[in-house]
Amino acid sequence: MGKIRLTVWNEFIHEKSGEIARIYPDGIHGAIAQMLGRYDEFEIRTATLDMPEHGLSQEVLENTDVLIWWGHVNHAGVSDEVTDRVVKRVLDGMGLIVLHSGHLSRPFVKLMGTCCRSKWRENDEKERIWVIEPAHPIAAGLPEYIELEQEETYGERFEVPTPDELIFISWFSGGEVFRSGCCYKRGLGKIFYFRPGHEEYPTFYREDITRILRNAADWAKPSGGPKPTLGHYEALE
Ligand code: ZN
Repeated sequence: MGKIRLTVWNEFIHEKSGEIARIYPDGIHGAIAQMLGRYDEFEIRTATLDMPEHGLSQEVLENTDVLIWWGHVNHAGVSDEVTDRVVKRVLDGMGLIVLHSGHLSRPFVKLMGTCCRSKWRENDEKERIWVIEPAHPIAAGLPEYIELEQEETYGERFEVPTPDELIFISWFSGGEVFRSGCCYKRGLGKIFYFRPGHEEYPTFYREDITRILRNAADWAKPSGGPKPTLGHYEALE
């Protein structure tokens, strides 16, 4: 198989000014593309909300194996057309990795069918991410747990469908727990939701987080399996 064609999508609003521009001078998408771009297996492009069709034209999506999504303050700014296009591509087999506040993005909410809300608090608390499925490909090469000294806190209940596979559970120093690594299949596509990545912390420059995104992209890429025939079907025998 050739390279994994990765599109890193970001709404790219927070990082245009102030302290967050200092943390992510090239945007969160730029940081993720830079970290994953060190690996030969990827062919990476980035796309942002302010581009025509949010950078997600039919052609771009057709040439994307795995789409990474970060959004926060302007989920509503993503058009119906692009939302539906992303959902359809996932159902047709494109992988989707949804990060942090992307849990409230329009494509993810539509694919889940629930509101996808949770508790949250910005309080510089510690997050400890426990690997609870060490044999899963997304956990390859990780230690038993990862600690992020400061992150935004999310807490259960996380209003999503029960994941097909749950890879990580986070504990926060304020007391909450959260299902922070959730795998889903929708149609022919694989979806991975990963919790960390608040814009005020340099989380996406970490090697362990990059390892998880790398593993997740490999897991979520299209399998190359047969396209099923649906509807009336003549007997083979
Ligand atoms: Zn956040």
